[in-house]
Amino acid sequence: MEQQACLVTGGAGFIGSHLVDFLIQKGCEVIVIDNLITGSESNIAHLKDYEQCSFLLHDVSDPLDIERSIDWIFHLASPASVIDYQQYPEETALANAVGTRNMLMLAKEKNARFLFASTSEVYGDPKEHPQKETYWGNVNPIGIRACYDESKRYGEMMTQLYHRIHSVDTRIIRIFNTYGPRMRKTDGRVISNFINQALYNYPITVYGKGAQTRSFCYVDDLVQGIWDVMNCEALSGEVVNLGNPEEYAVIDVARKVKEMMQSSSDIVYKELPQDDPTIRRPDITKVLNATGWRPKISLDEGLRKTIEYYRETV
Ligand code: NAD
Ligand code: UDP
Repeated sequence: MEQQACLVTGGAGFIGSHLVDFLIQKGCEVIVIDNLITGSESNIAHLKDYEQCSFLLHDVSDPLDIERSIDWIFHLASPASVIDYQQYPEETALANAVGTRNMLMLAKEKNARFLFASTSEVYGDPKEHPQKETYWGNVNPIGIRACYDESKRYGEMMTQLYHRIHSVDTRIIRIFNTYGPRMRKTDGRVISNFINQALYNYPITVYGKGAQTRSFCYVDDLVQGIWDVMNCEALSGEVVNLGNPEEYAVIDVARKVKEMMQSSSDIVYKELPQDDPTIRRPDITKVLNATGWRPKISLDEGLRKTIEYYRETV
């Protein structure tokens, strides 16, 4: 394969840094763009001596001038955990709205292929289950999650507009809950919370009754999916779900983590956050048919790897 020059926004974050590792392994050249609002240079510190990887501290909500040629843009920059985007609501909205347009303008100028990291949150609290790409969603436009959900929807709209009107070669991925090493311990996501609570034998906090469901994708599977989607000619101008269709109730995840870690933590129940989706599972037929991609790593295997990571970084 010809060596691609890639720009990865949000490349110092959890998913972004794994994507950067993967691209480097594939022989690509990578420019990481990040303002470090929720990411960390430590996630890419192991690449600092690699000539084919460079880092630019930059906020995607500001226009970006780059002299050199770029083949592929992966736009992942945005706070992503519920705690993070509620701490930075305006920054989140701007990264996905203004930031996406800035990156699309760059893609047009460079004649680069563009991928937008959207989210299953565009389906809101879904009335259709599992969620297919054809479902338009059930989102509260003024609720506390709206800074994220609605700006991702806006980002999708702008991406589609640049494809239709400006002929940019785009792809939109709707990422479902993804977990693995390099998730910040304090990012408030369910897997990082449960493992770190169990690690110190602190109470495991289940919100509501824990009957709400999620489908968890291990980060290595997701990154392979991003690669497959970016390489698939037939997916130009398309939107696809990327996630693991194995669905779990949150209470069962709490029990599983407690048991796997042989923790003496109690499971305690806390108030369910506002607008917390009650069910979520991706229908991945579209991406499977187009690329053959499907996740390979079970929740048990992914949890084992993630637990090991947190144990090593205590
Ligand atoms: P993360 O917070 O670890 O990574 C986001 C990165 O983007 C961070 O390094 C942060 O500093 C950077 N960033 C944020 N705003 C920026 C800006 N204005 N300019 C430059 N950099 C900026 O989160 P993540 O889980 O790795 O998420 C990556 C992407 O995937 C996000 O777009 C998120 O919405 C999407 N996504 C993630 C999940 C998931 O389960 N992890 C699910 C759906 C969608
Ligand atoms: N959750 C929980 N306890 C926690 C953190 C999260 O019960 O300590 C629940 C949360 O209410 C949601 C699910 O786990 O139903 C997934 O939450 P997360 O913040 O990881 O992702 P999202 O809500 O964005 O899917």
